[in-house]
Amino acid sequence: MATTTGQVSAGDTAVLEGAEPVDDETTGGPSIETFDPRTATLLAIVPDQSASEVRAAVARARAAAGPWSNLTFKERARHLLVVRDRLLDRAEELVGTICAETGKQPAEAVTTELLAVCETIDWYARNGERILKPQHVGPGTMAHKSAWKRYEPLGVVGVISPWNYPFTLSMTPTVTALFAGNAAVLKPSEVTPTVGLAIGELFADDTWGDLVQVVTGGGATGEALVRSGVDKVCFTGSVRTGKRVMAAAADSLTPVLLELGGKDPMIVCDDADLVRAAKGAVWGSMQNAGQTCMSVERVYVERGVHDEFVEKVLEEVASIRQGDAGHGDIGSMTFEPQVAVVERHLADAVDKGATVLVGGRRVERDGLWFPPTVVVDVDHSMDLMTEETFGPVLPIMAVADSDEALRLANDSAYGLNSSVWTEDSDRGVQLANRMQAGNVCINDCLVSYAITGLPFGGVKSSGIGRVHGSEGLREMSQVKSVMAPRVKVPRELWWFPVPRHLDRIAIATMRARFGSSVRTKLGR
Ligand code: NAD
Repeated sequence: MATTTGQVSAGDTAVLEGAEPVDDETTGGPSIETFDPRTATLLAIVPDQSASEVRAAVARARAAAGPWSNLTFKERARHLLVVRDRLLDRAEELVGTICAETGKQPAEAVTTELLAVCETIDWYARNGERILKPQHVGPGTMAHKSAWKRYEPLGVVGVISPWNYPFTLSMTPTVTALFAGNAAVLKPSEVTPTVGLAIGELFADDTWGDLVQVVTGGGATGEALVRSGVDKVCFTGSVRTGKRVMAAAADSLTPVLLELGGKDPMIVCDDADLVRAAKGAVWGSMQNAGQTCMSVERVYVERGVHDEFVEKVLEEVASIRQGDAGHGDIGSMTFEPQVAVVERHLADAVDKGATVLVGGRRVERDGLWFPPTVVVDVDHSMDLMTEETFGPVLPIMAVADSDEALRLANDSAYGLNSSVWTEDSDRGVQLANRMQAGNVCINDCLVSYAITGLPFGGVKSSGIGRVHGSEGLREMSQVKSVMAPRVKVPRELWWFPVPRHLDRIAIATMRARFGSSVRTKLGR
């Protein structure tokens, strides 16, 4: 694959060639080839766009952003519901494009890509006006003033997306930016550019055709977008690239939203419903061939139920249908260098004493097929338990108790999603509260993302900022604080000349407003 011969670095997910910072007109090359990973056949050739082409796209978006920001929220929502209708009309075609470029199964593409985006558009169309409407705040001592905050559009938002959910992770920040009154420029992954171009067509429109621009290219095109003068960068991808994006954005103090990698832990308590937990662990680690930022990447099971849990996991894995017939459970992997990461993590784990119970070797056929793999006898000396693997691999570790499980779960540079499995709801909530992660599920995994009202994002190296929920919409806005007179006074008390007894007046005011409230309540 011409643009996917990326190197694999220790301690991170696969990285792409062309990600070196290349400046200005030298950015970009003639074209990018994209392949069907199920068969290794060429799908399309798309332009590798230069920095000047990126800047031109940003300028077109900026021209559209002004009139768009002047619309009422309801008018913007109406347009985005039309875009959703187009998505629904073209659902089968979009699913075909997504599956051909990623190798995922149609059912996966519908539920995790199209449905997720429909939910997001629906939720913001219903709730966005309330979230963005100006809010009054109490003026405190300044009783003669009125104060409110107002959410304003940023201008043009740059969206840089990865290959693992090329539709959802491009559309979600893009439509959120539009709901908040911005225009957007999308740079899809060079591994999945035709999905990005299909997104551009969803926004093709006589009136608002320039509102969403799509630029294709590799890392250099992405960096050109970061440096193009956009008003915010919404980046979804690896930690390694996220740091480069943030460094490049620092030059112009462009704000960034970073949705990065994960190494999501699952804790299985001895009182868990083991059948459900095993099914959840297998689905959560294998769906999308394990290429999900919030995949279950490591399981900690209380020792008393470890063997029974592993047995149930193996039964579940045996029933997974992996194939390209279109009706299986999982498809191929998407990106050759990622398969190499999976192989490297497994080799390192086996070297250090891990046991592969099933799977473990890529399937001998054309395309990127890696079988469901279960590994035991693992520990934190292995990359498989500490670095993002991003493949259909489930490592399971026995622990003494849930405290040890929690300590190990939190012993990670990442903190994206996580899960706790127990039949005791209080215990579940206690453990969930102590989990160092942006998201936690009790007796389920991953699908908290599907609740659009819940903000989604990471702590630690898993990212900065949130998508979804009121937080996600406000990420795409800037807040302006406004103060105005409620009662007109000829002059403010503290203006010059400062009144002679202002200090005494201020102390009296302080005592009246704040004095002894705690002591009175405490009876002292
Ligand atoms: P990646 O970091 O290699 O690439 C992501 C995007 O960044 C691509 O479009 C790429 O062209 C672009 N890019 C590369 N170098 C750049 C640079 N210097 N400046 C600007 N843009 C640049 O990630 P990937 O391999 O496409 O995706 C997999 C990673 O994404 C995994 O780590 C996964 O966990 C993460 N991810 C996170 C989330 C989340 O919501 N937290 C969701 C999905 C994927």
